[in-house]
This record gives sequence, structure tokens and C-alpha cells, in this order.
Amino acid sequence: MGSGDASERTAVGWAARDAGGHLSPYSYTLRNTGPEDVVVKVLYCGICHTDIHQAKNHLGMSRYPMVPGHEVVGEVSEVGVEVTKFTAGDIVGVGLIVGCCRQCHPCTSSNEQYCSKKIWSYNDVYTDGKPTQGGFSSAMVVDQKFVVRIPAGMSPEQAAPLLCAGVTVYSPLKRFGLATPGLHGGILGLGGVGHMGVMIAKAMGHHVTVISSSDKKRGEAMDHLAADGYLVSSDASAMAAVLG
Ligand SMILES: [Zn+2]
Ligand SMILES: [Zn+2]
Repeated sequence: MGSGDASERTAVGWAARDAGGHLSPYSYTLRNTGPEDVVVKVLYCGICHTDIHQAKNHLGMSRYPMVPGHEVVGEVSEVGVEVTKFTAGDIVGVGLIVGCCRQCHPCTSSNEQYCSKKIWSYNDVYTDGKPTQGGFSSAMVVDQKFVVRIPAGMSPEQAAPLLCAGVTVYSPLKRFGLATPGLHGGILGLGGVGHMGVMIAKAMGHHVTVISSSDKKRGEAMDHLAADGYLVSSDASAMAAVLG
């Protein structure tokens, strides 16, 4: 379809209908491609724990039907007339934010996540008044500002969790000057974000110790993720030995 096509696209997603935690198929329309919009055919989407919180209304702000998903990797199928960064066939990613005011101090200093008018990928309302729906879906229409290129050679299914969990640890390490090799650091908890922290800090050349509440994840940390050390936080003498 060309960008001038007047018919709206139908997407099929997996939607939560209430706080029960079950997702079921849901058809909805996507907006027509605006000048700066990119149509993304979803290939993979990670599951972040926030998706579960939102689907089950743990934050008390859920709107249903809700299609979660904010670690999205897909293929560009169409671009608006003013899109310069992408062309059809590109492999791209979409994260947690799909809109912002573009004028406030956070927006003009590459801190759009602090914009008071930012728009979440789902469980929010877009500028056209329609609900936003996320990546547990066949397709999304996203402003090019909030679309990132996935480098060639990176497997799309492994790239997907980088769009939230990965960037959550990568961004502060870069911004606070902790990307220079040779530091000693601890990762508290080996969950969705923590395991990314181990891999990214190792890739930056750091000495990485996993700190966990039990011995349960020692094998995963040491053998699978190649951490340099493992500490059980309830072991007072082991913790005292590394004090400072
Ligand atoms: Zn997330
Ligand atoms: Zn703003």
C-alpha cells in the first residue's frame, strides 16, 4: 500500500481485557501513515515485567483492551513521505515511548523519558485520541523519532530485550562514565535487567560480581554469563570479606 492509501490497517494483537492476566486475540485499526510515521511489521517482542504489571493493573492505571509489549523488533513495511531514517525492509526496534512534546527542556536535551507529555507505547492515548497498543501484535505505526535501527548481523529475537531491559543498564553505564574498562562492579539480583547488566558490564571490560539473596543462581552467573564473582547477600562473613 502507498502512503496515500485511505484505508486503515487492521492489526491483530494479544490483549488483556481485565486484570485477570489472560491475553486473547484482539483486532484493532492502526492510524494511516503520517508524514513521519513508520509502519513496523512485528517480528519479535520481549516480555518485560512491566507488561505483566500493566496487564494485571498492578499500577492501578490500566485501560482495557490493552495490547502490551515494549521490546519490539520488526521489519519496516512502509514509511511516510518525510521519513528519512528508514526504508522498507529495514530491521528496527521500538521501546517504551512513542511520543513526546519535543519542546520542553527534557525533550530538547535527549531526555524525552522525563517529558511530562511523553506517550507510552501502550496503555496511553496518542495525539489522535486513540489508545496506543504495543508490540504483542502483528504491526505498529510509530513516529520515526522513536524507531531505532537494529544493526545488521544482530539476531532480531536477541535484540528485542535490549529495547527495555538492555538499555536500562546500558544507558546509565554510558551516561555516568562507567563504560571505560577495568572497573569492579556489583550487580544486585540476576533477573531480567540484572543478567543484561552482567553481559553489558562484561562486554565493557569490567570485573563483575553478582550479588544474590541465595546460592540458587551461582551456576547461571558464573558458568552461563561468565561473571567474575558471586556473593550471597545473606552470608554475613562473605559480605564482610569484600567490604569496601
Ligand atoms: Zn520494560
Ligand atoms: Zn517534552
